[in-house]
Amino acid sequence: MTKKLKNTCVNEFDPDALDEEKAINFILDSIISKKNKERLPIKETLGRVVGNDIKAKLNIPNFNNSAMDGYAVNIKLLKKNNYILQKKGISLAGQPYSKKLSANATIKVMTGAVIPSNCDAVIMKEMVDIKNNNLYFPKILEKNQNIREIGEDIKKNDIVIKKGEVINHSHLGILSSLGIKEIDVMAKPIISFFSTGDELVSIDTKLSKGMIYDSNRYILYGLLKKLPVIIKDMGVAKDNEKTLIKKLMSCSQKSDIIITTGGVSVGDADYIKDALNKLGNISFWKIAIKPGRPLAYGKINKSYFFGLPGNPVSAVVTFQLFVTLAIEKLAGIRENRYIKIEAITTNNLSKKRGRVEYKRGYFSQVNNVNLVSVSGQQGSNILTSLSNANCYIRLDSNVSKVKKGDKVTVIPFDIKI
Ligand code: AMP
Ligand code: MG
Repeated sequence: MTKKLKNTCVNEFDPDALDEEKAINFILDSIISKKNKERLPIKETLGRVVGNDIKAKLNIPNFNNSAMDGYAVNIKLLKKNNYILQKKGISLAGQPYSKKLSANATIKVMTGAVIPSNCDAVIMKEMVDIKNNNLYFPKILEKNQNIREIGEDIKKNDIVIKKGEVINHSHLGILSSLGIKEIDVMAKPIISFFSTGDELVSIDTKLSKGMIYDSNRYILYGLLKKLPVIIKDMGVAKDNEKTLIKKLMSCSQKSDIIITTGGVSVGDADYIKDALNKLGNISFWKIAIKPGRPLAYGKINKSYFFGLPGNPVSAVVTFQLFVTLAIEKLAGIRENRYIKIEAITTNNLSKKRGRVEYKRGYFSQVNNVNLVSVSGQQGSNILTSLSNANCYIRLDSNVSKVKKGDKVTVIPFDIKI
């Protein structure tokens, strides 16, 4: 059950608009993570959410092995001041040398090869001089040098991947190095979405006057595709309460989350709130942020509902700030909020007090200094300033002016390596 929220938010811009952080906490508190799991071969778990803590059944490495191509010795067996040795054998990766090492002898070892049983140091090949079958070693040797110890990466019974982590390429490496073939992952939540608006036509139709192509459904598809969810594109609904009710009803029968765009504000053709009031409940519908002030959150039967604004930039911002967190919680992903960094703005910036503002920006590093510039016009209909951006510039509610050269908070879109 969704909690009833008191109208606690007061701000000078819109007294009914809910504070951003309160809205996030409210949404997260109201969402109950799904419990079902499925067992999959590890390759198919990429991007999926781990269902249980995963324990190591082996040590990694599983045997002492050489970190270098070189020569293995036993430091104690080396006679005083005699650092001239004879090569007695070779240990290759996958082909160990099984005899014991005798005095004044050395075994050639390759990277990854088993360290012969009574050896305790490896000397790099490049440090050894060979003359007449004698090997001349450096005199300073340290115990265990160039030896990778049993369990130095993973110890048997360590938890190597925690429940709620999203499997990436490194996890696949860990799982395969432990000989794990299959794991349990959380079932994918089902997310249905549709656009609303009498003006919207599909991209395979000719445009007539006053009509526009529906871009929000493609944007939402792109955003959802990055998450471990089942996507149900439910098309477009006209601005008509009856149509909306019918569509929302049918979505609620098969979705964990329903997302709509448009029709959520106070215009004459905005029917989302009315439809939602008749079908389920609305917890709130205004948030003190720009872009994205009208954002409805509620429930229809067992489905959580997000009514995003129609302007494409507002739809993206509200999806990223609120819907992503909701989906992650539902999908069982461990909580990870966005990373914020500081940068110097190369523009004068201004905004109204009383709401948080997300401007689209372009972040760069010049001579190790973090800089950010606005990436174009900031209207919530201007999609190009979003497609040219690589970050948001987040300006706090109480800020009204920022001067060129001042520090601002930046949220990078994707952190690449
Ligand atoms: P609304 O929130 O319905 O008042 O819409 C706000 C603005 O966003 C209007 O200019 C709409 O035409 C536009 N809009 C609404 N839905 C979409 C959509 N699916 N694709 C592109 N623009 C849209
Ligand atoms: Mg509309």
